[in-house]
Amino acid sequence: MCSSEETCKVLVADDSAVYRKLVEQTLDQDKYSILFAKTGQSAIELFEQHHPAIVITDWLMPDLTGIELCQQIRANLKDAYTYIIILTSISEKENVVKGLAAGADDYLTKPFHPGELSARVAVGRRMVDLHRQIEAKNRLLRELALTDALTSLPNRRAIEEWSSRQLSGAARHGFSLWVAIADLDDFKRVNDTYGHHAGDAVLRGFGEILRANTRSSDICGRIGGEEFLMVFTHAKPEDVRVVVERILQRLRDREFSFEGQTLRVTASFGIAGFQGRVAPEFRKLVTQADEALYTAKRAGRNRIEVCALIPA
Ligand code: GH3
Ligand code: MG
Ligand code: MG
Repeated sequence: MCSSEETCKVLVADDSAVYRKLVEQTLDQDKYSILFAKTGQSAIELFEQHHPAIVITDWLMPDLTGIELCQQIRANLKDAYTYIIILTSISEKENVVKGLAAGADDYLTKPFHPGELSARVAVGRRMVDLHRQIEAKNRLLRELALTDALTSLPNRRAIEEWSSRQLSGAARHGFSLWVAIADLDDFKRVNDTYGHHAGDAVLRGFGEILRANTRSSDICGRIGGEEFLMVFTHAKPEDVRVVVERILQRLRDREFSFEGQTLRVTASFGIAGFQGRVAPEFRKLVTQADEALYTAKRAGRNRIEVCALIPA
């Protein structure tokens, strides 16, 4: 980050020792830590190593021009924004335009006014700080968009995104992918008898059981209401069954208590899997697991039903 409390990294690329010194004297050493490059190549190396928030670059250097440096920085743009100021004795307006078009944010001519340079660097610092705040908010929003608020587990969208990628991998590399849907049994009765808060606590409790009994390389989440989805990769059918049986058993063993009353809950599970060269749509696997789930419900609940592997 480059917020006001922290020192901000500035890369100065200039082949003139005099100008490197002048810039150094202009910037407040307490606020900025300055890296110096005498050539374009060394500027690129320092940039890749240190990811400075601000780059002040000369136009003409022995190997690269400041314009090329700008273009390279912009082409490699990852998450963090870098504010680029071109500082040059070339003052024709066409070159100002060219510099800004190459991705520079600002353009200053030599000889520069020290107060103006430090004010413009401060603007750059504000811009970078804003940019980084927005990136952090975006990351948070993305995380929220993929998380179920009640259980903090991945939500339907997160599972679908993850599973579609895994399905392509499964088809390419030949590993298996299994989908298990769980639906809590007679859950409406839990809400009706003990209240919605109690129902919510049961949903969270089941989420904890899922999290504790699946590998971190697999995914489990809540896809809505009292329905949960687990996706396992690289597993044999008997192993998937063992994992799901353990989850069902943990739920049967769990005693939920509300206002002096205790309650036990069960769930029904449907499992479907794929192993082959042509990946089905993820939705198709979910539909098959759903059909198996309803067979489990019809057969009396509190059990697991497995559908044949695709392709049959
Ligand atoms: P079945 O064994 O056939 O699955 O019966 P069920 O009662 O579990 O199924 P049904 O679909 O009839 O009812 C689901 C209930 O889940 C009804 C709804 O109020 C409850 N539910 C859905 N989402 C939530 C939630 O976020 N919190 C709580 N407390 N209850 C929820
Ligand atoms: Mg249910
Ligand atoms: Mg349901």
